This record gives sequence, C-alpha cells and structure tokens, in this order.
Amino acid sequence: MPCYRCGTRQVDPEAGKSSSWRRGVVCEHQVLICPACQSAALADLSRCARCGSVHLIRRLDQVECLDCRLIRDAEPESQAPDSPVPSALRPAGTDLATEVSRALDKVLGRR
Ligand SMILES: [Zn+2]
Ligand SMILES: [Zn+2]
Repeated sequence: MPCYRCGTRQVDPEAGKSSSWRRGVVCEHQVLICPACQSAALADLSRCARCGSVHLIRRLDQVECLDCRLIRDAEPESQAPDSPVPSALRPAGTDLATEVSRALDKVLGRR
C-alpha cells in the first residue's frame, strides 16, 4: 500500500530496523503514511476520542485505538463507494475457458 498523500511505495525496512512508516485512519479508511508526510498528515488523521492518539487501525466496521484500545464503530457513510458488480454484468468465466480450450485444441490439432 503506498503513502496516501504522495503515493510513495514502502520499501522493506532493513533487517533489524523497524519501518518508520505509520498507519492511521483518514476518513474512516486505513492508510499508510511515509516518513516525509507524517507531520502534514497529522491534520488529516482521525484521532481517538478518549486519548487523542492518531495510532488508529481500521478493522472491518470498527476503528481501534492502538494506545488505549478504545474500539468504536466506523462511520458508515464514509465507507468505500464501490458496490459489488452484479453477476449478470460480469463476463461468464466458463465461456472464456471453453473458448481457450477450443483454441488450444485447434493449435494442437486435437480435433
Ligand atoms: Zn508520503
Ligand atoms: Zn485512545
């Protein structure tokens, strides 16, 4: 997952070192923040209602504070807008498989 502000991708931390990337919650979404964006990101990050910490993680429909372990329900209206595609609109996978096997039969001269 890239940094939500600048799009930089996280590189694996060197062995023995912990990554300086932070996790947080912005608009009820779990995000990663690169070291360069952390001070700017503070204004965006959701904060724990009890202790004010920005060390929050999103779990299913809940947001948990990593510092005081307060768990609250995530706001439903800011969930991802993508809805499941109705199956009728999807290309049928079996047809494609049949096409491929037919084409293979032709190439291999099986018929
Ligand atoms: Zn960044
Ligand atoms: Zn807290």
